[in-house]
Amino acid sequence: MKVPLSVVDFLRRAEQVYGQRVALVDEPDQPAPPWPDLTYAQVAERARAQAAGLDALGVPQGARVAMVSHNAARLFTSFFGVSGSGRILVPVNFRLVAEEVKYIIEHSGAEVLLVDPELDDALSGVTARHRFVIGKESDDELYRFGVEPRPWAPDEDATATINYTSGTTARPKGVQLTHRNLWINATTFGWQMGVNDRDVYLHTLPQFHCNGWGMVYAVTGMGGRHVILRKVDGAEILRRVEEHGVTMLCGAPAVVNMILDAAATWNGPIPGRDRVRIVVAGAPPPTRTIERVETELGWEFAQIYGLTETSPVLTMNRRRQEYDSLSSADRAGRLGAAGAPAIGVEIRVDSSGEILARGNVIMNGYWNQPDETAKAIVDGWFHTGDGGTIGDNHVVSISDRKKDVIISGGENVSSIEVEDAIFAHNEVAEVAVIGVPDEKWGELVLALVVKTPGSSLTEDDLIAYTKTKLAGYKCPKRIEFREALARTATGKLQKFKLREEFWTGRERKVN
Ligand code: AMP
Repeated sequence: MKVPLSVVDFLRRAEQVYGQRVALVDEPDQPAPPWPDLTYAQVAERARAQAAGLDALGVPQGARVAMVSHNAARLFTSFFGVSGSGRILVPVNFRLVAEEVKYIIEHSGAEVLLVDPELDDALSGVTARHRFVIGKESDDELYRFGVEPRPWAPDEDATATINYTSGTTARPKGVQLTHRNLWINATTFGWQMGVNDRDVYLHTLPQFHCNGWGMVYAVTGMGGRHVILRKVDGAEILRRVEEHGVTMLCGAPAVVNMILDAAATWNGPIPGRDRVRIVVAGAPPPTRTIERVETELGWEFAQIYGLTETSPVLTMNRRRQEYDSLSSADRAGRLGAAGAPAIGVEIRVDSSGEILARGNVIMNGYWNQPDETAKAIVDGWFHTGDGGTIGDNHVVSISDRKKDVIISGGENVSSIEVEDAIFAHNEVAEVAVIGVPDEKWGELVLALVVKTPGSSLTEDDLIAYTKTKLAGYKCPKRIEFREALARTATGKLQKFKLREEFWTGRERKVN
């Protein structure tokens, strides 16, 4: 027998098995009226009401529904209400500026757009056939309680979400993740992290970022509790861990640093000692940070590696039995690598040092960009654009990046996209954007600029100009003006040479 895998399975099980449990605790401090604590039966009811509401609007199966939202119970429920009724959810990065969001809405052809109230003004020029501000307006107009939604015959190969990600092109690409991709990622990730019905999961990770790495599904399927966090802040994370008995959270190394900083001035014992496990990815965390998680917080540290294109989990590095007898420092050293392939994932390194992957978590392709898909998936292997090695016990280490991408605070920044934005300024003759190592954010965006003759452009002017075009985290934090930029004989920028002076003496060329 073959029954199609779909995200419906996770919420259906939670509703049947754990229906009366508190499933979802919304963020209390948000511009929309927060939802009350909801049981799994109530979450399922709201997901059905949302599906019935989309039916009433005439939004067909296969249509795209975009949400630009901070973490919220309403976004959480849409992972089931939208995808679970055969539509495609497009969770959009809430840090993007209007021009960037507009591109995504148009490119994805979204029929419905839901906008966070805090972003409504800034995104007033961005619209779709149906546009709702998230909160009272969307509650009143989108949800049809007591109406059975139109049935959807699940298709595991149908696209469930399209997640836009900045990569090697000037515009972000829409990664199509199927129900099958999401199902396999959630179950393998959940299993290997030991997700269970006692888990209380704190949403420190943006839900738009690869669907919160799939934890929205994994924790739901096991009947764990979701606690929503709207804005990431170290002390607030510790407070929520204490208040809700949190057992698990995920984040980029920058989030770990924020928690460690807050812990240094925390009054009393650190909450969650010997209980919390924190899963980190996005960039290779420094060994010292890993050790401090164990010694200063008393939390378990685990690392994963992957990409939006891979749902995301490709490899996992979690404390194994053999590490028990090691010192904290040595154990941290072992946990500093990306980890061994997750079940069902095959990894190899090609002759150029690029990491290639195969498995059921790898995307269906980029939305409406077959040429880009063909470049990414070649002969059945997905090209990650990351450089690395495979060591003992098949542990993968990421040491370099083959693609022109900067990762700052766990979010991808396409160098080309930033170069395009800067180059649009009429006093810029040449520009190269590179990532340079930074203590707090891992990498920082640095622009090397050659001005047009006679220009009096300043660093501040140019940063301010870029901010009108790109999300803040993509804008250069520093600009250095140069007379010329290193180029090859054919005129191509030599990024590796430009990067060299900032990265000398480092073992890894990514941070
Ligand atoms: P994204 O698609 O935004 O999730 O970004 C994926 C990229 O983040 C990968 O291609 C890597 O360059 C980087 N990345 C993710 N996890 C790790 C990790 N554990 N170590 C090093 N780099 C990572």
